[in-house]
Amino acid sequence: MPELPEVETVVRDLRPLLVGRTIGAVRVGRHKLRSPWKPAWTPRVAGRRIDAIDRRGKWILVRLAGDATLVLHLGMTGQLTVHPEPEPLADHTHLRFPLDDGRELRFRDVRRFGSATLFASPGALAEHLNARLGPEPFALEPEYWFAALRGTTRCVKAVLLDQTVLAGVGNIYADESLFRAGVHPGRRANTMTRTQAESLRCAVEVVLRRAIDGRGSTIRDYIGGSGLKGGFQEEFAVYGRTGQPCPACRTPIAVARHAGRSSHHCPRCQK
Ligand SMILES: [Zn+2]
Repeated sequence: MPELPEVETVVRDLRPLLVGRTIGAVRVGRHKLRSPWKPAWTPRVAGRRIDAIDRRGKWILVRLAGDATLVLHLGMTGQLTVHPEPEPLADHTHLRFPLDDGRELRFRDVRRFGSATLFASPGALAEHLNARLGPEPFALEPEYWFAALRGTTRCVKAVLLDQTVLAGVGNIYADESLFRAGVHPGRRANTMTRTQAESLRCAVEVVLRRAIDGRGSTIRDYIGGSGLKGGFQEEFAVYGRTGQPCPACRTPIAVARHAGRSSHHCPRCQK
């Protein structure tokens, strides 16, 4: 599933292709995405210029002239790419946003857990996102983070995956960050010391920045907005490396279940 670095890569790739362009009449495929495109949205999008494209957590925000924002989520297998309009459609292309330069933004999604939603006002958008998302990892205040960990008996892995505490981190980057910080994924959050909380906060930031530099990780379907794959999967220390030697101590990487997800970790390096 695309996490923060993959979504950020899509946004960076799409920005030069979309900003300043005007959207035409949206073309909707036969199959619905997770939340269906409402016909009433089409006239509210058509003829609007794209002023900006940003990211919040794993959500892509396409800000249109006026007050409306088109909000896209890639779900598990979503792909957003720009193509010349006559180019044949790939299977599983569900939404097409024609642009005024003869190209179109295409939303392809094999598993259809992705979504495209129109928010009429900045207030409605803020309400939607603020109810679901904590701070961005790059803006995480040390005091807030320490208090969030100390305030729960859940395991640290569960706290990292909780989007209302911290936005954008999923299973891959949770495991990689915990390894970098030397913290066991099953560790109870309220037993973390201030030093460990801080080292985990820094690890999350470093891991995400490196992953963005690598254009994210391509495990299955992920591609960036330019159609290019990510390369960070080559740099995984623990994720998906069960049984292979730990890069620090050579102990075989183990996998355990925490917060309902597989947690890849080094049983020796992570306490
Ligand atoms: Zn190790």
